Amino acid sequence: MKYSLVVESYEKLEGHTGRLAITEVLAGLLKETPKQDLEMLVYLTQGKLRPDYEGIELGIAEKYALRVLHTASGKSIEQVKRAYVDSGDIGTAAERLLDESRQGALFTEALTLKRVYDTLMDIARMSGEGSTDSKLKELVNLIGDASSKEAKYILRTAMGVLRLGVADYTILDACAVALLGEKAHRKSLERAYNVTSDLGYVVRLAAEEGLDGIRHVKVQVGKPIRPMLAERLPTAEEILEKMGGDVVMEYKLDGERAQVHKMGDRVEIFSRRLELITPTYPDVVKYTKEYVNGKKVILEGEVVAVNIETGEYLPFQELMHRRRKHDVEETMKRYPVAVNFFDVMFSDGRDFTQQPYSARRKELERIIEQNEFARLVPAKRTSDPKEVERFMEEAISQGGEGLMLKDPRATYNAGARGFGWIKLKREYRSELTDTIDLVIVGGIHGRGRRAGVFGAYLLAAYDEKRGAYPTITKVGTGFSDEDLRRFPKLLKPYESEVKPPDVESILVPDVWYRPKVVIETIASEITLSPIYPAGLNSIREGSGLALRFPKFTGKLRDEKGPEDATTVKEVVEMYSLQLKKIQSKPGD
Ligand code: ATP
Repeated sequence: MKYSLVVESYEKLEGHTGRLAITEVLAGLLKETPKQDLEMLVYLTQGKLRPDYEGIELGIAEKYALRVLHTASGKSIEQVKRAYVDSGDIGTAAERLLDESRQGALFTEALTLKRVYDTLMDIARMSGEGSTDSKLKELVNLIGDASSKEAKYILRTAMGVLRLGVADYTILDACAVALLGEKAHRKSLERAYNVTSDLGYVVRLAAEEGLDGIRHVKVQVGKPIRPMLAERLPTAEEILEKMGGDVVMEYKLDGERAQVHKMGDRVEIFSRRLELITPTYPDVVKYTKEYVNGKKVILEGEVVAVNIETGEYLPFQELMHRRRKHDVEETMKRYPVAVNFFDVMFSDGRDFTQQPYSARRKELERIIEQNEFARLVPAKRTSDPKEVERFMEEAISQGGEGLMLKDPRATYNAGARGFGWIKLKREYRSELTDTIDLVIVGGIHGRGRRAGVFGAYLLAAYDEKRGAYPTITKVGTGFSDEDLRRFPKLLKPYESEVKPPDVESILVPDVWYRPKVVIETIASEITLSPIYPAGLNSIREGSGLALRFPKFTGKLRDEKGPEDATTVKEVVEMYSLQLKKIQSKPGD
């Protein structure tokens, strides 16, 4: 397929903001695309090369993209920089400069989608010394054979800032219409996606095997399942009512979520955002091999640092030492962990995602040989709010951060935040709200003691409907001296001369950062605000939402990607919960 056809559709997508119109353009594009090209097309349209869990990163640094454009257009580096800063976008700058330098010269070479994809893949795979030069050369060659319009999208893609405003779910909508003939089939596609986490695969399967193939997609050992997520409610009474009178209470442990896939002698571990974290936890691999029965199993658990002498749980921060890439053996000994299983999605040839929680827990109890390193999360069934209170105290005294209340009748709802699981944390019971995970999108220079370092970071929530990052607060407290030293280094690769296209902000920081780094914050409350666009107009016309007295908790959520940050929808819900609480307080 010609890449120019793809670009034509991308141009149309840019002209639309409504979901219906976007779906229509995408559906047209999917129909036009030959089956063998569909996977590539879907990944590229998502701004990716492969599903996230394969860990293939696009993202040429800004300065290299500018250099490529300089070579390809023959313009001076200053001219290139100016065009970039003026337009605020690498693609627009590329199109303009190439138009100028080529002045209508004709191209004989028609780029194919495959060539664009293969070249970007080559570039992403190159690593090691001297690879930068080869990467740039490949990209310059590709741009040399591209029209200026094509170059616009190629450079955006290569830099990781494509941003067509196409959410994963819109691609599924389009696929339902274009390849299965009916919008109503979108639900089946969604499930296929949630259990395989691979949009390209799902779309190709729809084209090749139709609805029947999609309906029969099974959970596959080795392909991560998109995680089930929990809702929030403020009191045990409300949760009991919501779940129909009785619930299973589990400790909510404070560690790292691990999706463990056991395939005979091989074990792979995926993080909450479905990245492979097997190398970090050789001990969890070993415990799974030794203490989990069954040849093909998918389980979920929380990995928590433990005190080896007493078996007690240690705080989350301890676990962070395990993130070091070097000396895994040594860190493993110094910071031992236990894996605490709380779910099973596949066992003994059976897909358990459609089974109720009670059946899954039973299976879990059957297949795990419990000991100090491979544990089952403590669980207890109840219909009594007082019992919930007691279990909460017990969980907290044992090092948990609260409870996870689970509906015994609920299936494993992959990829969705729903009321099958509801978290109840201690903070809800005081004036504080839950912690909020936000993306750093800007840096503000410090004054006084912090002069020359930094003063605060500008933070954004994630708006999943629009794939955007609206700002919600600035945070300057809670950073240790070590944080102050390491944060600038950590953020350096994401610095941007211009406001990243997916960030929405009224405030202009001293430095922009592309949304990548997620940190945990806590605040005294959520308030209405005219200067932060998060949740704009959702509570009151002209106002967004902001955090009051925000503080960094010390937790860098590097197991979360920007899209896993707290969403605008959640913040709006938290704001409403907070109002309800204030209104129901006697005497106020
Ligand atoms: P949080 O910031 O509260 O951890 P989150 O956005 O990471 O939230 P949630 O769905 O809100 O995800 O909370 C679920 C998380 O709690 C899981 O990702 C998991 O890591 C952790 N967890 C700890 N104990 C349990 C448990 N018993 N059952 C399910 N999840 C648990």
